[in-house]
Amino acid sequence: MPHLLSLVVPFYNEEDGVAALASAVLPILESIPESEWEIICVDDGSRDATLAALLALARKDARFKVVELSRNFGKEAAMTAGLDAARGAAVIPMDADLQDPPELIKKMVAAWHEGAEVVLARRVDRSTDGALKRATAAMFYKLNSRISNIDLPENVGDFRLMDRAVVEALKMLPERQRFMKGMFAWLGFKTVTLDYKRPPRAAGKSKFSGFRLWNFALEGFTSFSTAPLKIWTYLGALGAVVALAYALFIVVKTVLFGNTVPGYASIFVAVTFFGSVQLISIGVLGEYIGRIYIETKRRPVYLVRGKHGFEE
Ligand code: UDP
Ligand code: MG
Repeated sequence: MPHLLSLVVPFYNEEDGVAALASAVLPILESIPESEWEIICVDDGSRDATLAALLALARKDARFKVVELSRNFGKEAAMTAGLDAARGAAVIPMDADLQDPPELIKKMVAAWHEGAEVVLARRVDRSTDGALKRATAAMFYKLNSRISNIDLPENVGDFRLMDRAVVEALKMLPERQRFMKGMFAWLGFKTVTLDYKRPPRAAGKSKFSGFRLWNFALEGFTSFSTAPLKIWTYLGALGAVVALAYALFIVVKTVLFGNTVPGYASIFVAVTFFGSVQLISIGVLGEYIGRIYIETKRRPVYLVRGKHGFEE
């Protein structure tokens, strides 16, 4: 009895990648015994010919199904839309640019047959990423494992196999701001890890750079840790101790030597220092309050304009 398995692929301005993905993926999927496939392509509000290319593909081959979002919602939301639409007994989210090597799918399915509920794909080297991206990624993981109570597996992206039970568990996480890496890690389940080498992009260019990656990291810290809120208590206490010691020093000095200097410099330093500490801590509070605000609005994670190639 063949299983239905799902591949979920988010597309944002990937017109040059659609045909390449189909021709790279299909022979591999067909070579996996006892499996039938559906390939859920999510068009994340692309501004180029991506949607047209996907629809043409879906007309030719019934295994391709297209979820068309009403605008660009970002990769995490697009993936959520794809996972919601997937019907397979196991689901594999994958990038459209062939940076997640499809050859690995065969091994993932084999590990799943052997009882794994989650099969992770780990990059053994990130030589295709720039030096800065690698260094900042390493810093992110290090800091995260210090301050957060769940460990993110390092060098693991969204490319993974998840059993139906895991997908259903993921659907129970209702947050609007979706840091998928963290949410996946929070779920747990029986996990097996496979190693692979990440190839460069097949076509087009990366949508994650600079500021967007920074925001992504911030999202990671604040959605799974409250440590950034708590450190201010300790910093404040430390500042108070230092300020008290300094006050004592000034009192003793004045008693012993009289009021020699007006003390303008010390006051100025203290005022600016504590002023900036307060601004930073207000900023940290703002990050969390912003998140609370967004969550309380309970808006949907994504909106679908149309679904193509699905039954019913
Ligand atoms: N993507 C998306 N919506 C976005 C940005 C990216 O659906 O707003 C998709 C993109 O089409 C690709 C995947 O997410 O399939 C990964 O994007 P990219 O290759 O740019 O990221 P990188 O590999 O550089 O981390
Ligand atoms: Mg990529």
